[in-house]
Amino acid sequence: MIKKLLQRVFKDKPKGGQASASPHEAHRYPRRVHGIARNAISPAALRTVEGLQKAGFAAFVVGGAVRDLILKRVPKDFDVATDATPEEVRRLFRRSRIIGRRFRIVHVMHGQETIEVSTFRGSHLDADDDATVADSGRILRDNVFGTHEEDAVRRDFSANALYYDPGTEEVLDFTNGLPDLKAGVLRIIGSPQTRYREDPVRMLRAVRLSAKLGLKLDPATEAPIPELAELLHDVPPARLFDEMLKLFLSGHAMESAHALREHGLHYGLLPMLDVVLEQPLGERFVTLALRSTDERVLADKPVSPAFLFAALLWHEVLALWQKLQANGERPLPALAQAMHEISDIQAEKLAITKRFSVMMKEIWAIQPRFEQRSGQRPYRLLENPRFRAGYDFLLLRCQSGELPMELVEWWDAFAAADTEQRAAMLVLDSGGTKKRRRRRSRRPASASPVDETAAQQT
Ligand code: ATP
Ligand code: MG
Repeated sequence: MIKKLLQRVFKDKPKGGQASASPHEAHRYPRRVHGIARNAISPAALRTVEGLQKAGFAAFVVGGAVRDLILKRVPKDFDVATDATPEEVRRLFRRSRIIGRRFRIVHVMHGQETIEVSTFRGSHLDADDDATVADSGRILRDNVFGTHEEDAVRRDFSANALYYDPGTEEVLDFTNGLPDLKAGVLRIIGSPQTRYREDPVRMLRAVRLSAKLGLKLDPATEAPIPELAELLHDVPPARLFDEMLKLFLSGHAMESAHALREHGLHYGLLPMLDVVLEQPLGERFVTLALRSTDERVLADKPVSPAFLFAALLWHEVLALWQKLQANGERPLPALAQAMHEISDIQAEKLAITKRFSVMMKEIWAIQPRFEQRSGQRPYRLLENPRFRAGYDFLLLRCQSGELPMELVEWWDAFAAADTEQRAAMLVLDSGGTKKRRRRRSRRPASASPVDETAAQQT
C-alpha cells in the first residue's frame, strides 16, 4: 500500500526543466536526415514549444505531425509533449484550459489555432497495480506521468513516437521510428500481443494508418490481428465510433474498408460491411459511396458522416424493406420499420450519435419520394432541407444499378428547369394513386413516419 503510494507520488511529479532520467538516450537526428525545417511547424505550435522551453521545461512537437512532415504530407494538427504538469502549462499560457478526465491535457489557444499539450506519460502497467488492467489486458486508466522515454514507449507505433525540437531542428527517437518510417514500415512498439490487449483500438489504428500513409505493416505487427480482432467487442462504443469516423473520413476509406476485411476486423465493428460487400449490388453501392467520400475529403470538401453511415447500411435496410413488403406490408410503413430496426441495431453497436442517426433516417425516409413525379410532390421535395443529401443518395442508388439512371436524370433536369418546363415534366397521376392519397390524408400525420409531414419537420 505504502509502496504504491510512494510510487504514485514520484510518478506524479515529473521534474520540470531537467533532462529525463531515462536509462536510454534518444537518437538525435539533425535536419539533413529528417528534413523538417522549423518553419514547417505551425506558428501556434512554435509559440507553445518556445513558451515552455523558455520557462525551463522540455517541450517537443510530437506524434502524427512529425510523422506526416517526414513523409512530406500536410499535418492535420500539431500536438506538443512536455515534462511540465498540466497545471504548470496552464499557468504559462493565458488562453489555455485543462481538459479531459481520463488523460488530463491542456488546450493552448493562439489565434484560431488550438494546440494540444500533454505531459509525458509513463507506462501504465505498474506490476502491483492491477486495478488499471481489465481481465483481457485492456488498460482502463493510464494517466500516470513519466519520463520522456516512457512517454515514447507508451505510444502506439514507432512512427508516431518521434519528437521534434524546433529550437535545434532535431528529431529525438527512442524507438527506431525514423529508420522505420524511412523504410516505409509501420511497427508497433513493444510486444504486439500485449499492446493490442492493452488497447484493441490499436489494431484499427494499424490498419487505418497503414492505408492512409501507404506504410507496410511490419509482419509481427500484422500477424496477431485476426486472432485478437474479437477484443474489439470490449471497446466502449463511443471510442469505436470516433475511430470509425477517422477511418472512413481519412480520404482512404476504400483501402481501409478492404484492409479491415482482410484483417478480419470488420466483425463486431461494422458487421454490416461484410454482408454488404458480399452482395453484388451492395458491394457496388458501398464502393461508390466510399469513393465519392474519398474524393470529397481529398478535395477538402465537407463530408457528412450521417450520409456515409446511411450509405453503408442502406442495403441492410433495403433487404429488410423488401422482405417486409413480401410479407404483405405496404411500402412506406415497411420502409419505416426497416430503417428503425437497422439503425437501432447499429446505433447500439457503433454508438452512432443521435444527431447522425436522425439525419441518416431522414435521408432514407425521403427516398420513396423521389419516385413520385406527379402533382405538387416534386415541388415540395425540392424545398425539403434534405433534398440535396437525398438526391446524392439517389444518385448512388442509380449508379449502383438499383434504380434506372433515368430517375436521377429526371431530377437533374427538374431542378434546373424553369416553371413552364417543370410543369411539362410532371408525370400524370394514375387514378389508383389518387384514391390512396385521399385515404391517407385522413389519417393522422404520425401514422406513417415517412410521409411528408414527418420528413419535413426536421
Ligand atoms: P492522425 O493523423 O489520424 O491524427 P495521429 O497519429 O496524430 O494520426 P492521434 O489520434 O491524433 O493520431 O494521436 C496522437 C498521438 O497519440 C499518436 O501519434 C500516438 O503517438 C499517440 N496515440 C494515439 N492513440 C494511441 C493509442 N491507442 N495507443 C498509444 N498511443 C496512441
Ligand atoms: Mg493527430
